Parts: sequence; structure tokens; C-alpha cells
Amino acid sequence: SGVYTVSDFMVTKEDLHVVKPTTSVDEALEMLVENMIAGFPVIDDDQNLVGLVSDYDLLAVDSISGTGRIDRSIFPEVDSTWKAFNEIQKLLSKTNCRVIGEVMTPAPLVVRETTNLEDAARLLLETKYRRLPVVDSHGKLVGIITRANVVRAALQIKHENNKTS
Ligand code: AMP
Repeated sequence: SGVYTVSDFMVTKEDLHVVKPTTSVDEALEMLVENMIAGFPVIDDDQNLVGLVSDYDLLAVDSISGTGRIDRSIFPEVDSTWKAFNEIQKLLSKTNCRVIGEVMTPAPLVVRETTNLEDAARLLLETKYRRLPVVDSHGKLVGIITRANVVRAALQIKHENNKTS
């Protein structure tokens, strides 16, 4: 098989649900549930990718997790890593947020349409992120590549290899 790139398997922008930094957390929650998706790229008025928000980031909003008063007993104990500690602290700091700009991960890890599929797959594996936004040379959103897209690619490549061997 040839060398595939991200553009061969990504979901293109027309098919994506996106939000803005000014979108309310409540509206994003509704879009998430209605469309059964796990996250959104966040773009500004000029289509520049400015962030990423996933259902993980929305876990802490106070309509879900309470009044914003933090129960310290849920912090990890001595055997947990600092990474987990920091992640939970970051999440809990989001309880009072009202708009997406406050809960999103700014400047997310991205790939280009020309990125080798293999490199994108490796990034997804290493980071454990569920998706990588795809941007053009100006930083404008052109699509997204998800774990599911890469798994579909792997199956297609396997079938192609079976045919030719
Ligand atoms: P998820 O990938 O949905 O499991 O998200 C877990 C956390 O990683 C959330 O805080 C997301 O905002 C963040 N995240 C997800 N994808 C990316 C990405 N491509 N770059 C940076 N952060 C991300």
C-alpha cells in the first residue's frame, strides 16, 4: 500500500460540530449530548483553531459536579502520581466556568493534512488524546482525525495488503 496521510481518513470541517470561546458551557453540553459526540474543536470568527474542548473538560462544570466546593477527599493519595494530581486539580478549577473559553484546552496538539497517518497514529497512542485537530499552514481548522478514523484506516490497509500478497 502507498503512504497514507491524515487527509485520506480525517473528517472534514463541513461534517464537524464546532464551538467558539464565547459559546456557553450549557449550549456545548446540549450539543454534545444531542449529537453523541465527545468533543469539539474551538474556533474564532476567522476559523482559526484556538482550543479543544472534550467531555472530560465538561465533567467539572458546577451543574454537574455541584456548587464548586471541592471535596478534598477525592484527591489522590500518596500512591498516585503528580500527573494525576495536577490533572484533577486543573479539572476542578473549572467548576465555575460559564463559557467554553474558560474550560477548553488552549493551543491543542494538531496535525496537518500532509502528516503521515502513521505519525498521527503514534501521537494518538502516546498522548492518549482521542482526537487531533487538522489545521492548514495558517492555523485554520480543516478537519479532525480521531482514534476511530485511524482504526478504520488500519483495517483498510490490512485488507489491501492481503489482496496483494
Ligand atoms: P480526551 O482526548 O477527550 O480524552 O480529552 C482529555 C483531555 O485532553 C481534555 O482536557 C482535552 O481538552 C485534552 N485534549 C484532547 N485532545 C487534545 C489535543 N489534540 N491537544 C491537546 N489537548 C487535548
